[in-house]
Amino acid sequence: MIPSTPTIGVLALQGAFEVHARRLASLGANTALIRTPEQLAPLDALVLPGGESTTFLWHLERSGFYDILNAFVRTKPVFGTCAGCILLAKEVSNPAQKSFGVLDISVERNAYGRQNDSAILTSETILPGGPLEMVFIRAPRISRIGPGVESLANRETTGGIAASPVLIRQGNLLAATFHPELSEDTRVHQLFLDIVRSAT
Ligand code: GLN
Repeated sequence: MIPSTPTIGVLALQGAFEVHARRLASLGANTALIRTPEQLAPLDALVLPGGESTTFLWHLERSGFYDILNAFVRTKPVFGTCAGCILLAKEVSNPAQKSFGVLDISVERNAYGRQNDSAILTSETILPGGPLEMVFIRAPRISRIGPGVESLANRETTGGIAASPVLIRQGNLLAATFHPELSEDTRVHQLFLDIVRSAT
């Protein structure tokens, strides 16, 4: 049974972890910055933040963290943003790279090219409250989603690159190819908190 004030960890090995923790705390969660595998034990859920997925992998493998995290992402709610989304994906390309493979999607890293690699867009979402601002930083592109994956928002067609899902949910797993922690809008973190609270 998940307490109404869940404890949500943010992986703090590298990347944009502090802003996630602050946002979740402002929405009523207990938060913890996670730097060692032992710190995962008391958590109800975890955020895998943006950063550089290759660097995350390097840290995780070096500290014996990978296998414990691999078990965690199969049992608890996890929210992966950008590099975190790449780490959760079943299939990674450009180049191919190891991942937990728990989220039934294919992602292409750094898929938007030099001109478009970072952008702030506002796109439609099925989350109540209208269009959502999305900050993309060297974002991956989700090129395939499996049948159990729901797309909650799409990036519009840019520079000849087809529209693609940018916010997706598969059960208790949530992933975004953008950085919701860098926008004022709290809906994406609120959604994750709702997922964590209702997780069985
Ligand atoms: N380009 C990064 C990667 O491939 C992801 C960028 C991000 O997390 N903002 O891991």
